[in-house]
Amino acid sequence: MYDCIFCKIIKGELPCSKVYETNNVLAFLDIGPVNKGHTLVVPKKHFTNIFDIEQKDLDEVSNVVRKIAPAVKKAVNADGINVMSSNGEAAGQVVMHSHIHIIPRFKDDGLKLWPQGKYEDNEMNEYKKKIEAFLNE
Ligand code: 5GP
Ligand code: ZN
Repeated sequence: MYDCIFCKIIKGELPCSKVYETNNVLAFLDIGPVNKGHTLVVPKKHFTNIFDIEQKDLDEVSNVVRKIAPAVKKAVNADGINVMSSNGEAAGQVVMHSHIHIIPRFKDDGLKLWPQGKYEDNEMNEYKKKIEAFLNE
């Protein structure tokens, strides 16, 4: 946490372009926007990602995302918004402080999300069952 860049922003030790804040959540512009207006929503308490964030903090982050997404869309006249979160290095998470990206999208912005695969015959059922088995742990 000592070296966490988002904790430093939250504490005011580093600057940010703040868009909105509550007691427990901060929203600010991403310094490297996918498209201009790209905003990050973070819990003020340090969590790494979806695997350790407390439910109440996630709920508050989610409420702020719901509030801000339409404002970002209108502000940059976007056609749509991606609400995204990378969890773990393998998923592309670079800053290890839980955060949600609000990314304005335009019909002609040329960006593509990841390619999709497909399941073999009974595989969907197998994967569904594998996931279900861990839900009541
Ligand atoms: P991740 O890949 O971890 O989901 O996304 C981290 C995001 O944080 C990146 O989009 C990156 O541009 C943004 N970011 C990294 N350092 C800073 C910073 O110091 N200030 C701001 N505003 N954004 C940052
Ligand atoms: Zn942090």
